[in-house]
Amino acid sequence: MEPIKIHLNKVKQQLDAVSSSYCVAKWQQVTIHLATGQTHSCHHPATHHIPVEEIIANPSALHNTKFKKEQRKKMLEGERPSECDYCWKAEDSPGHHFSDRVHKSADPVWGQPFLKQSSQMPWDADVTPAYVEVSFSNVCNFGCAYCSPDISSTIMQEAKRYGPVLLDGGRVDRDIIKLERQGRMPIPNREHNPYIEAFWAWWPTLYPKLKVFRITGGEPLLAKDTFKVLDWIIEHPNPELDLAINSNLGVDEKLLNEFLEKANYIQENNLVKSLKIFTSCDTWGNQAEYIRTGLNYKQWYRTLWDITLRYPALSITVMVTFNLLSIPRFESFLRDMLALRQAPSVSINNSGMRGVGLDFPYLRHPRYLSSLLADPYMLVLLDRSIQFMRHNTATYQYVDYHDGFYPHEVENLQRVYNIASAEWQGSLDNQVSRRDFYLYITEHDRRNGTDFKTVFPEIGYFYDQCKREYEESQAAREAVENKEE
Ligand code: SF4
Repeated sequence: MEPIKIHLNKVKQQLDAVSSSYCVAKWQQVTIHLATGQTHSCHHPATHHIPVEEIIANPSALHNTKFKKEQRKKMLEGERPSECDYCWKAEDSPGHHFSDRVHKSADPVWGQPFLKQSSQMPWDADVTPAYVEVSFSNVCNFGCAYCSPDISSTIMQEAKRYGPVLLDGGRVDRDIIKLERQGRMPIPNREHNPYIEAFWAWWPTLYPKLKVFRITGGEPLLAKDTFKVLDWIIEHPNPELDLAINSNLGVDEKLLNEFLEKANYIQENNLVKSLKIFTSCDTWGNQAEYIRTGLNYKQWYRTLWDITLRYPALSITVMVTFNLLSIPRFESFLRDMLALRQAPSVSINNSGMRGVGLDFPYLRHPRYLSSLLADPYMLVLLDRSIQFMRHNTATYQYVDYHDGFYPHEVENLQRVYNIASAEWQGSLDNQVSRRDFYLYITEHDRRNGTDFKTVFPEIGYFYDQCKREYEESQAAREAVENKEE
């Protein structure tokens, strides 16, 4: 058996010795959305509301809500919380594999070291978690195609102006009324936010115990609390902390420079164990700008160069939320990334890698933008990008000189291809998703003054095909309705 599997097996035995549903992530990992007052542990279960009366009495209720404590109790007693069905499905499926319950609990930084200690706490104890991800605000200058109004203020404004996006069969996306009903409307920035107040009341207790702290958004650089965190770290170094900050790098220059200066100071003076900046881009040029409204690709790419040249100590990773629209020009995007890696003047950063890191998580929702809809022609285009990476893999992988793509990056994109190519395009899900694609893209163009077929000439035929399928299904529906009358 491979060493990693032996290790995971051991961790599973340790978990099972507590109970068959025990998972360290419920205690030690949390994502908190302070603008909407939502929390979840881990990121798989749906978020739940944090009652204001709970945080007034106890700021750590940002993590330790009564609801979450009930779920911990269930786990200690061997009952499966239904909110964790992501893992139960994986554990009940045929074959021998490990669910995220085991993977997360095995994490050497914030999981396994806390496995015993968390299980021995009373079920209703207030836990100070080791891994915290926080969103201070939904203020964002971008409106990405796959994002939602509670995450981006730009999309919130758009939804207020145009209403929800209508999908096939009367379903809707970007629905503010639904958000209101669910209690997930963000508290406006100018108003008092009790969740942010609770966060700062909890912070002095939380910070010394943190192993991983991630700031996400909205756009984190537009939240003053992000800078407050950086200033706090400068005053109170934490050499055990892995700090990660997301940014679209599209904010004004002054703000960006202020952020980079502070981040660089923290990195160069080793005030934390590691500092990583994550930025997103899903493909090249105007196609990337179509997906991420607000992005200026050239400027974003120039900023990446600027950071790697001016701040070689800073570690940057480009997150590609790989989706259907990433496919046509992805090779051009990879060429740009390769140029960064191969530039002789780019210094080597602390991780020993040149230029930027790359990651390709693939988009799952909304399904109508996912690469699951890729047809044979798009799969050929995607395969070309993979072959381009294979022809340009790093020459030296075990010393601090890198000049190409790393094998794990190639495998990540290959995985996207494998999943997409295994899809049966005739399935009901994919038929509905193609009709949704047509409706969404048409609405996107109307709201943003864009023209899909001009921006994506390579796959204009796909839009026509989705339109045809939608019109045929509408005609069939109408025929059935007329018959019934
Ligand atoms: S059991 Fe799975 S879904 Fe639940 S907290 Fe653990 S990793 Fe997350």
